[in-house]
Amino acid sequence: MKKVVKFGGSSLASATQFSKVGDIIRADETRRYVVPSAPGKRNSKDTKVTDMLYACYAKAEADEDFTPQLKKIKERYDSIINGLHLNVSLDNEFKTIKEMFANHAGKMYAASRGEYLNGIIMANYLGFEFIDPVEVIRFDDGENFDAETTNNILRKRLEKTDKAVIPGFFGAKADGTVVTFSRGGSDITGSIVARAAHADVYENWTDVSGVMVADPRIVHNPATISVITYKELRELSYMGASVLHEDAIFPVRKANIPINIKNTNAPEDPGTLIVGSTCHQPEFTITGVAGRKGFVAVNIDKDMMNSEVGFGRKVLSAFEENGISFEHMPSGIDTMTVMVHQEEFEGKEQQVLAAIQRYTHPDVLDVESNLALIAVVGRGMRSTRGTAGRIFSALAHAKVNVRMIDQGSSELNIIIGVSNDDFETAIKAIYEIFVETRL
Ligand code: ASP
Repeated sequence: MKKVVKFGGSSLASATQFSKVGDIIRADETRRYVVPSAPGKRNSKDTKVTDMLYACYAKAEADEDFTPQLKKIKERYDSIINGLHLNVSLDNEFKTIKEMFANHAGKMYAASRGEYLNGIIMANYLGFEFIDPVEVIRFDDGENFDAETTNNILRKRLEKTDKAVIPGFFGAKADGTVVTFSRGGSDITGSIVARAAHADVYENWTDVSGVMVADPRIVHNPATISVITYKELRELSYMGASVLHEDAIFPVRKANIPINIKNTNAPEDPGTLIVGSTCHQPEFTITGVAGRKGFVAVNIDKDMMNSEVGFGRKVLSAFEENGISFEHMPSGIDTMTVMVHQEEFEGKEQQVLAAIQRYTHPDVLDVESNLALIAVVGRGMRSTRGTAGRIFSALAHAKVNVRMIDQGSSELNIIIGVSNDDFETAIKAIYEIFVETRL
């Protein structure tokens, strides 16, 4: 048995949190590879070290005095070191960082120091080996993550190491230039390490007891999902559920390694298990519901559209030429709608519409904005009759006007378009009908 454990920023924000993490790791010998984030917020008014680093580096880049900011960052780490009574000093590391900042080493280098320094402390605290991600997590010259090269290098490195700390969030190009993932990217590192280590499970420790059925900012105290498939989670996180970085699924999915989301502050809670496939029936008909605001529907009407070969291609090429990806494309006999992100579309709206006009000569071409998309996700929906019926009657009762419906062929999800203003009401209504009344 071999486990990879990743701890998020709030789990490592202070010496007290660090010692909870130490207890968790020491309680299980098989927790062999540890991926730490940078120290996060200690309370709601606090600032994450990563954000402090970005702000400090902005000063350095503008050739302003950044020493007071850097000193504050060092104090965060020193308070952890002192609180844990460790015999390690980061003085030399901070000397190097100061020089690198003064020489404009780059924003990514700057941000990566958050995880790097926390990793040094963690390795010292646990008595584990420290592995610098610069040596084992590889990006190509275009700053894209190179999954296969990384897997080969890291696998060989871990074979030689019984217990190690590998900081999250960054790696490097072959020439050693530091590259970071997007924000929250330590989740991805955890997954990469789990794949390379052939781990039995990837434990992702955070400050909630798992993935929730709905967003707690919309639904009060929502239920936790006990088992969810990668595919379901991908649908939910793409639509805004934010427990795990959405790219963190790919490496472990390749190797079929389950992810267990756990709570550092309540380690006894079972959390959520994310798996490839399962015979475990979901507790409710739906696994989860999530959504996002800010979509636009481009509606195209043309008589006999369905018999015109290549019509869809012509419409989509208007979006492609302008570098806009589409989200959904529900269609009728003489109508077709293309849903896109409002932010992405706004600046290029007129070019896209002109191109559609030129290529297809539609009867009607119009645009509806301020739409929200909601994904109702669940592997159990395929085998349950009337799920769609229940969703739509719940929405009708809540006086929500449904503007679009799209059901994927996998029957894993139903996508519903509503106006931005109805978004919260719609999510609450769907949650209530399936979870609270368990219909
Ligand atoms: N520290 C980085 C961030 O704040 C990465 C992470 O925490 O996963 O985004």
